[in-house]
Amino acid sequence: MLKLKTNLQMLIRKAYRFRLRERPSQARDYARAAGCVRFVWNHALALQRRYYRRFDKHLGYVRLSSRLPGWKRRYAFLKDAPSQALQQTLKDLDLAWQRFFKEPGRVGQPKFKGRTGQAAFRLPQGVKLDAGNQRLFLPKTGWVRLRLSRPVDGVIKNATVSREGGHWFVTLQTEYEAVITPRTGTAVGVDLGTVTAATASDGSLLHLEARLSRYARRMRRQQRCLSRKQKGSNRRLHAKARLARTHARVVAIRSDALHKYSRELVDEHAIICLEDLKVAAMTAADGRHKATLNGRILNAGWAEMRRQLSYKADRAGGLVIAVNPAYTSQSCSACGYVDAKNRRSQAEFKCLACGHTAHADHNAAVNIRERGIQELLRARTLAVAPGDTGAGRQYQVLRPSHVEVVAVGRPMKREPADRLAQAA
Ligand SMILES: [Zn+2]
Repeated sequence: MLKLKTNLQMLIRKAYRFRLRERPSQARDYARAAGCVRFVWNHALALQRRYYRRFDKHLGYVRLSSRLPGWKRRYAFLKDAPSQALQQTLKDLDLAWQRFFKEPGRVGQPKFKGRTGQAAFRLPQGVKLDAGNQRLFLPKTGWVRLRLSRPVDGVIKNATVSREGGHWFVTLQTEYEAVITPRTGTAVGVDLGTVTAATASDGSLLHLEARLSRYARRMRRQQRCLSRKQKGSNRRLHAKARLARTHARVVAIRSDALHKYSRELVDEHAIICLEDLKVAAMTAADGRHKATLNGRILNAGWAEMRRQLSYKADRAGGLVIAVNPAYTSQSCSACGYVDAKNRRSQAEFKCLACGHTAHADHNAAVNIRERGIQELLRARTLAVAPGDTGAGRQYQVLRPSHVEVVAVGRPMKREPADRLAQAA
């Protein structure tokens, strides 16, 4: 009965980011291309806003792009930019309006792009990578050298060239097909709720605060420094660049730590259960989510952590599920008794009914794991494998990618997991 493994053909999307080693003349080309993209975006947006005010409708991509040749005649400098990048920005603008119409309450109207915003342009095709010679071909601007820090898998679907902290980078998005075998293994729950760390039900911890608080202090200082500078002044621009560099450093350290931790969890466990952070933010009854800069720096990592876990688990044939975190910190993981008083302090949990004691975060992580397993069993995406009980219990994944499909899974055969699900 448990010999159900079906291999899944999966389309895997990957993104790579490399620092470009452009010549000064190329840097000027990129800045010009980014400027043209910004011009076209703003120009088209102004047109769309007028159109929207008058007709309460939006101009789609096809009608916008038909105006592009006219704009190129009127504004000759647009001819220097890669035309695909200009078309791409119109597509992006169209998408931004579509999102706005779909969720008008939550998503705002597309905004004009200012001179100080991020300089970037995207090329949907014509990009060639010459890995042997560490160079990249971009339409219009030609070959550019780059620091190819890791090998690129798959076919390049598009490239985004952007400037950050005074340097130019390229992000390549690739696609390839792979065969995934659903896994059998243990489940783990991860409590991401506290500002300082993640605690997993298997006892593993992620501590980021000590490493990042130094940068949080520096960012606060630089933020104050920035706010004292006069608007539009050169000093203000410099202060802004300093703050951006520190922020980039924080992002790099955090991303590195999260990659290591998520890799560990995915290697160890077939099923990973997390809190649903959107729900958590709405029900932050115990005020754990601090709105301080420190808190923001650390918390911002959790969405990224979930993204990393999801795609890594997908590729390994595992599962990630996000569960409603309500009361996971107040419930006893041994007997299920729920009481706010069970939680003695930030760290200490002692059940008033059965006397079970644990570290509060660990207790919550166990609850999160159990909640995730129950949900997956109900959805028939999981089966219990024979053998151990408790934390060492093994589960067989029947259908990977239950939640948050980063790469799209497509069964090669519609059995037997699907048939099982239909029979239920
Ligand atoms: Zn209890």
